[in-house]
Amino acid sequence: MRRPCTAETRLYALLGDPVSHSLSPVIQNAAIDAAAVDGIYLALRCGQGELAGLLRGIALAGGGGNVTLPHKEAAAALVDERSAAVRRTGACNTFWLEDSVIHGDNTDVAGFLRALAAIGGGSPSGARVLLLGAGGAARAVLAALMDEGADQVLVLNRTLSRAQAVATRVGDQRVRVVPSPDQLADESVDIVVNTTSLGLSPDDPLPLDLGLLSHIGALLDLAYGLHEPPLVTAARQRGIPCADGMEMLVAQGAASFEKWWRREAPLDAMRAALRQALARRSAPAAD
Ligand code: NAP
Repeated sequence: MRRPCTAETRLYALLGDPVSHSLSPVIQNAAIDAAAVDGIYLALRCGQGELAGLLRGIALAGGGGNVTLPHKEAAAALVDERSAAVRRTGACNTFWLEDSVIHGDNTDVAGFLRALAAIGGGSPSGARVLLLGAGGAARAVLAALMDEGADQVLVLNRTLSRAQAVATRVGDQRVRVVPSPDQLADESVDIVVNTTSLGLSPDDPLPLDLGLLSHIGALLDLAYGLHEPPLVTAARQRGIPCADGMEMLVAQGAASFEKWWRREAPLDAMRAALRQALARRSAPAAD
C-alpha cells in the first residue's frame, strides 16, 4: 500500500526523452515504499529547453532525481557541485539538494562496480579488462576501471575515433584502443564488459565472437530486457560466469537513492520490483 502524498512529500523525477520505457519509477517507488520514506518518483519527458528549469526547480524544492539520454552531459553543466565521477565522465545522472547547493553525481560509475561485485566478477583491481563500446556508459565503466586500479583496459568500438576519444578523455597509459576484433586473437582477459547497444533485442548480432579470445574470467553485459542478451547466452554456453545489466540498473538506482535519502537502499525490494515489472511486460495482454 502506497502511503498517501502529503505537503511533506518530496518529488524525485527522471528527466529525459524518451522516458516512457524506463523502469526507474518502478524501482525507486518500490524503494521508497520499502524504506517508508515520504517521496514519490515520476518520469517526466523533457526537452533540452525545459531541462534547466525542471532540474533546478525540483532540486530547490527539496527533491532531486535522475537524468537520462539525451541530457546527461547538459545536466553536468547545470548542477552547482559536481562529484568526481561527473568531472571524470562529463555526465550527470543524479541530482539533489544538500546544504542549499544542487549536487550532481554519475551513479553509473558506482553502479557498475557494485554490479560487478554482486555477480561475482570481483574487483577490477589488477584486472585485464576488455571494454566493448565507447558511448556514455563506456565512459562511466572506464572511469570506474581506472579508479579501481585495473591493470590494463582494451577498448574495442565500431567507430575507432570514438574509442580513441573515450580513452583520451577518461583513460591513461593503461588503456589500449584495439582497432579491430582480429587483434584480440588469443588474448586472455579477466573481465569483458559490453557497453554497446547490441543486446537489447534478441536478434542483435554479437558485439564480439568470444571464441577469438583464449580466456575470459567473467562477463558483464549492460544490456537488459525481457530476453537474455545474446552475448550473455554465448558466455553462459562457454561456461563463463556472466550477467546482464539488470543488477547494474538496480545498483546505480540504489546509489542514487542513497544520495537522496542518506540511508541504505532496500536492494531486495528494488530487485523484486524490477523482476515483476519485466514479467508483466513479457506477459500476453489479458484484453
Ligand atoms: P551510446 O552513448 O549511444 O553508445 C552506444 C554504443 O553502442 C557506442 O559504442 C556505439 O558504437 C555502439 N553501437 C551502437 N550500435 C551498434 C552496432 N550496430 N554495432 C556495433 N556497435 C554499436 O549509449 P550508452 O548510453 O553508452 O548505452 C549503451 C548501452 O548500455 C545501452 O544498451 C544501454 O541501455 C546500456 N546501459 C545500461 C545501464 C544499466 O544500468 N544496465 C546503464 C547505462 C547504459 P559507435 O560509437 O560506433 O556508434
